[in-house]
Amino acid sequence: MARIAFIGLGNMGGPMARNLLAKGHEVAVFDLSEAAVASVEAAGARRAESALAATEGAEVVLTMLPAGAHVEAVYLASTDQQCLLDQLAPGTLLLDCSTIAADTARSLARAAAARGLVMLDAPVSGGVGGAEAGTLTFMVGGDGDALERARPVLAAMGKNIFHAGPAGAGQVAKMCNNMLLAVLMSGTAEALALGVREGLDPAVLSDIMKQSSGGNWALNGYNPYPGVMEGVPAARGYEGGFLVDLMLKDLGLALDAAARLGQSAPLGSLARSLYTLHKQGNSTATQDVGRLDFSSIQQLFLAPPA
Ligand code: NAD
Repeated sequence: MARIAFIGLGNMGGPMARNLLAKGHEVAVFDLSEAAVASVEAAGARRAESALAATEGAEVVLTMLPAGAHVEAVYLASTDQQCLLDQLAPGTLLLDCSTIAADTARSLARAAAARGLVMLDAPVSGGVGGAEAGTLTFMVGGDGDALERARPVLAAMGKNIFHAGPAGAGQVAKMCNNMLLAVLMSGTAEALALGVREGLDPAVLSDIMKQSSGGNWALNGYNPYPGVMEGVPAARGYEGGFLVDLMLKDLGLALDAAARLGQSAPLGSLARSLYTLHKQGNSTATQDVGRLDFSSIQQLFLAPPA
């Protein structure tokens, strides 16, 4: 069993840390949110007052943070001229499971290697449901031997572990996957809205399309139309799950990469425009649509015709 420092205990990190504890790992935790720390402490984690304090004696440091700026802040921000990376024992294995730019992951891996540390990018797919059930898919970039060291830790939180290639490759796989997911979710919401306007029951239409050539992950397991499927964000006012803001971040990562490479990504661009329109058009003084689950894109297509 490993001694693990876990930093970032949000919608994903909280259940992932709880699964590590359930499998018998020793876990020390830190998050800026007191409520997030308390919920994992209740499951047996050691509470730490800072990221540095959480890493005391840790063989593995795991981060699950919103975006690249947060990951860089945790590993590189200096206190008394020293950053977290300077204070870890050589050989410590660093696993960043956040979704961030591949370039940021590569430069962090280089900064870690310069200090005798090994860092893998290991972003995940499977959503909050997968994090809770311990069935996440990990897309890992970095050294293969380091991945073998990480495997028992990752296996406690997921069921599929892919070695995508060298440092940054896990993030490349993740950004491609999420660009496709945004396209599939937008298309699913558009098709359901059209069928309902034509008088079909959304549950009947969903059943038909699931067994037909329109079937896809968004429709089959994460239906965006309220009232069709239980246990998904659409069944609880789009609360929890994978935030619109995080999907916009991921589309930004994909489109930045496409622009840098001169690669055309018209469907990814359209999906980003739709999500931007959704957030700007449907947010009110009391509700920020960016904080809703990304399947709430359904609302964009249900707006009454002008
Ligand atoms: P979240 O916003 O729910 O959680 C992030 C947590 O990080 C929060 O608890 C926040 O307080 C904490 N945090 C931020 N800065 C910190 C710091 N400096 N030190 C310590 N804690 C800090 O986000 P999430 O949904 O758990 O997503 C985390 C990552 O996983 C993101 O990169 C996201 O893109 C990715 N992801 C999310 C999902 C999903 O379905 N939610 C699925 C796959 C991947």
